[in-house]
Amino acid sequence: MLDRLAAKERRRRPTDEGLLARANELSARYLDGKPKPASVRWVDNQQHRWGSCTPENATIRISTRLKGLPEWVIDYVIIHELVHLLVPSHGPRFWALVEQYPKAERARGFLEGFSTAANTAPEEC
Ligand SMILES: [Zn+2]
Repeated sequence: MLDRLAAKERRRRPTDEGLLARANELSARYLDGKPKPASVRWVDNQQHRWGSCTPENATIRISTRLKGLPEWVIDYVIIHELVHLLVPSHGPRFWALVEQYPKAERARGFLEGFSTAANTAPEEC
């Protein structure tokens, strides 16, 4: 029982290595393995965004404010940034790829509620 709780907590607060492994899993499962991130890491200097990326060197940054949130919400932000490695801006092609993740819309709703409750208005990007 305790092991299961510890494993659940680890998934809600993965290490940077854990984030990169998860990003590769999500890329393979929902994006044909096309996005190949070089690194995915937590950053605590992103007050206005849940995530960001640099397509030139395939690096992704995830806001530490997501730590502790449900796994499927963190996965959504990772997927959002993975798609940015393929499509820089938010257009129909971008959203069509993001929607391959079945919980995308639910996760956006969760983040909206979370940021309203926290009285901040970070956006994804
Ligand atoms: Zn974006």
